[in-house]
Amino acid sequence: MTPILQAQQIVKRFGAFTALDKVDFDVVPGEIHALLGENGAGKSTLMNILSGLLRPTEGEIRVSDTPVRFASPSDAERQGIGMVHQHFLLVPPLSVRENLLLGASSELGGPLSYPVARAEAEARALADTLGWKIPWDAPAGSLPVGTQQRVEILKALRGVTRVLIFDEPTAVLTPTETPELFETIRRLAAEGAGIVFISHKLKEVLELAGRVTVLRRGRVVAKLNSAETDAAGLAEAMVGRDSDAAEMLARGSSRQQSASSVISVKEESSVTTDPRAPLSVQSLTLHSAPGAPRPALSGISFTVAPGEILGIAGVDGNGQAELAECLAGLTRPQEGEIRIDGQIPPQNAAGFRHVGVAVIPADRQRRGLALPMTITENIAFGAFDKAEYRRGPLLRWPALRERAADLISRFDIRAGGPDSATKSLSGGNQQKVVIARALADNPRIVIAVNPTRGLDVGAIAFVYDALRRAQASGAAIVLISTELEEVLSLSDRVAVLYQGQFSGIVSPTTPREKIGLLMGGQKAEAV
Ligand code: ADP
Ligand code: MG
Repeated sequence: MTPILQAQQIVKRFGAFTALDKVDFDVVPGEIHALLGENGAGKSTLMNILSGLLRPTEGEIRVSDTPVRFASPSDAERQGIGMVHQHFLLVPPLSVRENLLLGASSELGGPLSYPVARAEAEARALADTLGWKIPWDAPAGSLPVGTQQRVEILKALRGVTRVLIFDEPTAVLTPTETPELFETIRRLAAEGAGIVFISHKLKEVLELAGRVTVLRRGRVVAKLNSAETDAAGLAEAMVGRDSDAAEMLARGSSRQQSASSVISVKEESSVTTDPRAPLSVQSLTLHSAPGAPRPALSGISFTVAPGEILGIAGVDGNGQAELAECLAGLTRPQEGEIRIDGQIPPQNAAGFRHVGVAVIPADRQRRGLALPMTITENIAFGAFDKAEYRRGPLLRWPALRERAADLISRFDIRAGGPDSATKSLSGGNQQKVVIARALADNPRIVIAVNPTRGLDVGAIAFVYDALRRAQASGAAIVLISTELEEVLSLSDRVAVLYQGQFSGIVSPTTPREKIGLLMGGQKAEAV
């Protein structure tokens, strides 16, 4: 079959960095073609080129065997190529209708060539056939992420769609929303559209795709059929042969699932604060900005024992950031209390951390590291209150440099040395600096927020190992993460955060579907 869309020998350079190196890729009508690769492999870059958002440095794009040049996404859209982006492109304060019309009037050549009334009627008809209820007049930013994604899909499906590209579409969905998306994707393929499904999750690729193209560091390293391979085969293609990382990936979460594992929320919240627990939180409430529909956090209670990992699961934006800030001491809640070793920590001025709590922050580049500074200087931030590194008001830099060198070897940080600027390190090695600083001195309490976001599989394995070692040496750990698999495979108990409240605290062996319901806001008693 003639491909509808074809990439031939595509090269993309960003300055001196080659993101794509002679990549061939094509899509035929009616297929679901997976593009698989680790973070940074070049998946989004390739598809941004095929959807007109980026220009290739070298190589050719063909549509139905005719060479084309896309100067913008609307050029691609005119050829029937649409993309649902990893980071949505909706304008949050505008209504759903306005968002749909925005694209229709400007990108498709003005209201004359593509009447807005027709755009709206088409979107409504399409939503009807897909069985979607869309609040057309609500601000796009106020909708649940799954609904925003549907609006993005409606936008991408405008006009005659021949190819639809989904960039990591399940990353923002709850486990319950994912099968519905897959249903939509299968349906669009059955109607003849060529689908590109980008993912780094092997299970999803095996479930959904026919052909699989694997990218590694900007090169195509394998072209497979999902029916003729398995998780181990895909993992090996993705990260390379004989790698521990490949085995870890293929094994996935090793926990067995069982049915009767929901600990009720009532039971948990009636637990009185255990004075011996390293960390205990009672009825924590944090109000949002005035006018917000609900508090950022309300009635959060839990305790964490020594050597325990409490996982906090949930779809992004349900209070994770606020909870982390309260636990770290950076934000003071209006109600409730946090006790560290049974004591209410002294009232810090905002901006000073709770002493004795090690934090692995979500955003290592903005919060975790001072990028222009050296590894030694960054590690000094975690040590300047310790006597051995001070002489009166002065820091003992030779001792700090020695400490940095020690941590570089203990935490396997790949860098020139203690004096290397942290901005020169790869993302994985930057995160190792953050983790080394947080975990080096066996902290009793650790708060880790999305500790593996954006890392490759090798670095992920390292982070998991570091957390397990901290746990083994007795730390009480709170792991806040939007990667459900990560929470389930590391935690002893899992609390699910929804709109600032715990919808349940469950065992990590609870079936995914039940946790999915909790992530969507159902209470534990109901599931
Ligand atoms: P993936 O989608 O597979 O995770 P990307 O296509 O986003 O990967 O990125 C591939 C590589 O190209 C990464 O190393 C990324 O840092 C780099 N890259 C992507 N966009 C840019 C850009 N605009 N400027 C410089 N480097 C970029
Ligand atoms: Mg990407």
